[in-house]
Order: sequence, then C-alpha cells, then structure tokens
Amino acid sequence: ATAQIGVTGLAVMGRNLARNLARNGFTVAVHNRSPERTRSLVAEHGGEGRFVPAESMADFVAALERPRAVIVMVKAGGPTDAVIDELVPLLEPGDIVVDCGNAHFADTRRREEALRDHGLHFVGTGVSGGEEGALHGPSIMPGGSDESYRKLGPIFEKIAAQVDGVPCCRHIGPDGAGHFVKMVHNGIEYADMQLIAEAYDLLRAGLGAEPAEIAEIFRGWNGGELESFLIEITADVLAHTDAASGRPFVDVVLDRAEQKGTGRWTVQSALDLGIPITGIAEATFARSLSGHADQREAARAAFPDAGATWRVDDRDAFVEDVRRALLASKIVAYAQGFDHIRAGSREYDWNIDLGGTATIWRGGCIIRARFLDRIRQAYDEQPDLSTLLVAPYFADAVAAGVPSWRRVVADAARAGVPAPAFASSLAYFDALRAQRLPAALIQGLRDNFGAHTYHRVDREGTFHTLWAGDRSEVEA
Ligand code: NDP
Repeated sequence: ATAQIGVTGLAVMGRNLARNLARNGFTVAVHNRSPERTRSLVAEHGGEGRFVPAESMADFVAALERPRAVIVMVKAGGPTDAVIDELVPLLEPGDIVVDCGNAHFADTRRREEALRDHGLHFVGTGVSGGEEGALHGPSIMPGGSDESYRKLGPIFEKIAAQVDGVPCCRHIGPDGAGHFVKMVHNGIEYADMQLIAEAYDLLRAGLGAEPAEIAEIFRGWNGGELESFLIEITADVLAHTDAASGRPFVDVVLDRAEQKGTGRWTVQSALDLGIPITGIAEATFARSLSGHADQREAARAAFPDAGATWRVDDRDAFVEDVRRALLASKIVAYAQGFDHIRAGSREYDWNIDLGGTATIWRGGCIIRARFLDRIRQAYDEQPDLSTLLVAPYFADAVAAGVPSWRRVVADAARAGVPAPAFASSLAYFDALRAQRLPAALIQGLRDNFGAHTYHRVDREGTFHTLWAGDRSEVEA
C-alpha cells in the first residue's frame, strides 16, 4: 500500500485529474474498467509523477494507504452505482469514496446515507473547468463529512486553481452540498451564456454589425466590470472564420443549443424550493425553444413581417446600453443563483458559506470572473444579506444600468428581437422593487373560486368573503 489517493475511471476527466494529482507530487493509484485506458495513461504520462497502475479493483484498493481515498470519475448515473457496489466490499470503515462525476445531489444524498451504514465516507464533489481545468487546476466543490475533508482538503486544495494565493476549493457542507452547489454553478453558467448570446444578437440586430466587429466590442468589455472567461471566449468564437466556407464561424453553426441536463436540474430544484431563478429558467427554456425546429419554421412562415427594422443612431451609446443591461441582468442571475444555494442550504441543513462559494468560483471554473470577488465581499460584509441586488456595489451597478436596461429591452421588443433573459431579469427587478404586486388580485381570485382565504393589509387574521352570498367578510 503506497498510493495516497486513487482514481478509477480514466476517460478525459479522470485521466487529467490523475495527472494533476501526480504532477503535484501525490502518488496516485489508477484504474479503469477497461485496462487499455490505464495502460495508455501510464505509457503516455507516466513520467509526470508517481502512478501505481492496477488492472483489477482489488489490486487498486490494495495499493492505497489507509484511510483510503478513492476518486470515482465515471459516467454519472448507473455506472457510478456499479463502481460503488464493486468498491464497497473491498473497503474498510473510515475509507473515503469521492464521486467527482456530475451526479444529481439527491443521488449523492442517497449514496452518502448508504455508505455511512458501512462506516464509509461518501464525498460528492463538484468539479468544474472541463478537461483543461481537471489537468491545470479546476474549481473543486466537495461535500461530505468534516472528517473526510481533513484527509482530502490538503490534496484538493493543492491541485485546484489558485487565485491570489487562495485555492478554488473549500468544504461546501455535508452529504449532497457539493453537488448541489456544482448544479447551481452550471445553472448560472446557462444564464450567463444566454445573456451573452442575447447581447450579441442585440448588437448584431441594432448595429447591423458583423461578428468580427462584435468580437471587438466583447474584447473591450473584457477589460472592465464584465471581465470573465465566458466574455473572453465569446470574443474568440465571434472572431473565428470557418475555413471551409470563409464565413463567420457563428453563421455556419446550426442554431440549436443542446444541454446535458444540469440547467434542468437547477430549475427543477428551484421550483421545489420556491426560489424564482427566472434567469436560469429562461436560459434553459431558450435552449429548448431553439431545438423546436418544426414550430420555428411554422411561426416563421406565419409571421414573416411581425418584426420591425431596428436603426440605432448613436452606435457608442447603444453599445454602452447593451453593456450596462448585460451587467444588470447578470447581477440578477447571480443574485437568484445565490438565493437558490441559500435555500438549499437551509432545506438540507448544509450551512453553506455563500461568500466562500463565490471565492472558489473565481478561478478554474467556466463562470470564473472578476465579479465574483464582489460577491464574496458582499456576503463577507453582510452574511444575512437579503439579496445580492442590494449590496452596495451591485445596487450601484444596477441603479446606473436601469435606464439602459429599459431602453434595450423596449427597443428589442419593438424590433421583434427576442431577449428573454434580459427582459425577464428586468421584470424580476421591477417586481422586487414594486410597492404593490398584483398578487393581491390573485389572492382575491383564489378566494372567489376556491375559498382559499386571504390576509389583509390592515388587520391580523385569515379572511374569506362570501362571494356567492351577501359578500360579507368572515374570519376563516
Ligand atoms: P464519461 O462520462 O464519458 O465516462 C467514461 C468513463 O466511465 C470511462 O472511464 C468508462 O470506463 C467509465 N464507465 C462507464 N460505465 C461504467 C461502468 N458501468 N462501470 C465502470 N466504469 C464505467 O467520462 P468523462 O471523463 O467525460 O466524465 C467523467 C465524469 O465527470 C462524468 O460524470 C461527467 O459528467 C463528469 N464531468 C465531466 C466534465 C467534462 O467536461 N467532460 C466536467 C465535469 C464533470 P470504460 O473506459 O471501461 O468504458
């Protein structure tokens, strides 16, 4: 027994994670269901560090020092359960099984409970950053017990991305907390990408600009408050020319966005918890809509002239309007995502540190951005902040952006350019700040057709109006 940690599942992610561990000086036992992957890892990268290859699960487990720490990096779902079932009889109390796949947090809760009965620690861990991140430093979001983190923390914090000397890894909370936070991270990523895509579409429609010109605008934005990995690669993708046709790359890609399901999971969980994550929901639905080719074709044929020509007179002012509207909408999406994490944390007793979560997303992951430092600051200064929208930096950015936001959303609506995430973020903002909401009428209707009762603004108690009788009010 010589290896400090093991990795089973050596496809792109597991292979790169194992290499990252070895490059950082850890001795890594490596195993894969089909041994060819194990052999090729050692053949191609064996010189990068100390690998202990194993062809059977038994040899793999035997190669680990105790308490054993085994990273499972296989296809999420059934394969994860299959590997756990194979591992458990070979392990001993105190050993740690780390699932770094993209598991649903409810599965992680189930697995954690089952392994706890065997005296084993099960650590559902979110890993973001794709294959490059896995190799050079991902953002790591481990759940599980405090005891398991004492062993894993020093290892994970070493291989994670580092920002200002701070590792992009921290213990998120018990059982499913890590996978929950990774899920919301992906949901926010959906919203961020949808907002960026809408900003590009608005610039293109309003300015009649070519993608290469819009790439320059994004490049400029990346020097300011919007600085982020996604804005940076947007400039890169928009500037790219398709070699085969000589056309802008973005014009030859089919406009049908695909998804693997983490956006959907986020929205489903938010519905269960009653948290309005409208930005993430719009982004997820926008991807679905893009895939409904038949309906899009039918509507295109039925309403060819329903839009209007959009002529922007002042180019620079319009670009600045879109930038401010993008920033304000992005703040809404992040505010909603952090609300969701707080609600999950309360529901499942995870005690998640919101500022700490923002800290570990500053590097390594897809939504890494300058902006996240401000989120950390906001929660550090005010841990019980009701919404990020009212934290000083964000409140200022939103207030400064409101006129731009309204102009962009109104102009887009007039021109017939869809901007669902921009528009719904603005509606969310206006709903939150409204003196009175028409929810009062909803309550009246519910009481009218279903005697569902209501509360009054001027008196304590629960009331019902006798709608079918003399319309007097009774206390329910
Ligand atoms: P895949 O999701 O493509 O999974 C392939 C791996 O799973 C192979 O090692 C394969 O073994 C193994 N496997 C599949 N079924 C079984 C089974 N029944 N028993 C044992 N092993 C099995 O690999 P990735 O590297 O892309 O992803 C690994 C995990 O990381 C996934 O959960 C994914 O969601 C997650 N993830 C991926 C990211 C990415 O950017 N790709 C980012 C973050 C997380 P074999 O070689 O024998 O077929």
